[in-house]
Amino acid sequence: MMLNQKLIERKKAPLRVFESWSLGVKLKDSKTRRLEERIGPMDTATLNKVLRILRRQIREWKVPAVGVVAERAVDRPFETLVSTILSLRTKDKVTEAASRRLLARAPNPEALLSLSLGEIERLIYPVGFYHTKAKNLIGTCRSLLRNYGGRVPRSMEQLLELPGVGRKTANLVLTVGFGDYGICVDTHVHRISNLWGYVATKTPEETEFALRRILPRRHWKTFNDILVTFGQNLCVPVSPWCSKCPIAGFCPRVGLKRFR
Ligand code: SF4
Repeated sequence: MMLNQKLIERKKAPLRVFESWSLGVKLKDSKTRRLEERIGPMDTATLNKVLRILRRQIREWKVPAVGVVAERAVDRPFETLVSTILSLRTKDKVTEAASRRLLARAPNPEALLSLSLGEIERLIYPVGFYHTKAKNLIGTCRSLLRNYGGRVPRSMEQLLELPGVGRKTANLVLTVGFGDYGICVDTHVHRISNLWGYVATKTPEETEFALRRILPRRHWKTFNDILVTFGQNLCVPVSPWCSKCPIAGFCPRVGLKRFR
């Protein structure tokens, strides 16, 4: 009886930590460390469970803008490329509306080059850095016509040579536009993968290469959509909603100082 009671108490102990989350308490560093040690870094078996739970959960939330546009742009890499260039440092709703306006007038590189810089700027305004993005879109379309017969290239190296295209954009074009394998790592994917202890990296680029080594290929195409949606709605930056999180029991919250 005594032994059973002790076991029950030991099982209950982690709940005290959960209680402090629900109060919005900032945990002391020592407690955060204990939490990290108790749960430990996430391994692939746990990650599989976590992704299964989140896949169900995110149906309740909206799909990120690039995903929304891309859903209708499967096998249409030009649309994916344009909407991803527009999405950088811009809110989803703004990106979605701007992509629709621009792609309705410019569904291919030739059509986009028939527009003036000012017209493109007016169509995509108010996306962030709209002047730079308009210029990059023109440079990208010129390169597509000059080097690839007006088609979007299907290789990471060639995509990275286009103006305004970084690894995140290139990975999205490959995965969404062409259906190839790639891992698109943005700030949410980088942040959450590290919170889970699944990787221990300093930059999104390091995270991409670490994930390429350990993440099962079947998750590559969906990992971005799941983590971005999760990161926008619940595991938000600065102070995530750990008290409402369906995977809290699996998450060591590596380095997390503040949460609700
Ligand atoms: S919300 Fe909290 S518990 Fe859930 S994944 Fe993010 S950091 Fe972990």
